[in-house]
Amino acid sequence: MAILYKEGVNGSEGLRKEILDILPILEECFKEEGEENLTITCTIGDHNKNDPHSNGFAIDIRMHDFDVIKQEDLYHNINKTLSGLYFTQLEFKGEMKAHLHIQVYKGVWKGILDREKTKRG
Ligand SMILES: [Zn+2]
Repeated sequence: MAILYKEGVNGSEGLRKEILDILPILEECFKEEGEENLTITCTIGDHNKNDPHSNGFAIDIRMHDFDVIKQEDLYHNINKTLSGLYFTQLEFKGEMKAHLHIQVYKGVWKGILDREKTKRG
């Protein structure tokens, strides 16, 4: 089992603890579905500055290698496992761009940023 990064994605650099903490959980969910590898296709790049990605609070996971049933199984398993703490969404299901978007809830990550700003004064 390995976590891979799409070419051009700069590893886990810039990801917040809240996202790094769930990587082993995601690995476990993939393993349960019989998958050997999990590929992260987006971390902090390619989004505007107010996006959770740009702030290290979101990742995308490649889904287009799988058929639609597998995509839904992985989504439901991960969504159930992370429920209440993270927002997950299966985007472009069944298409070439299919990926699973996982982020810290907006109210939570915005709150973390606000507290950091306050601390810096
Ligand atoms: Zn995303």
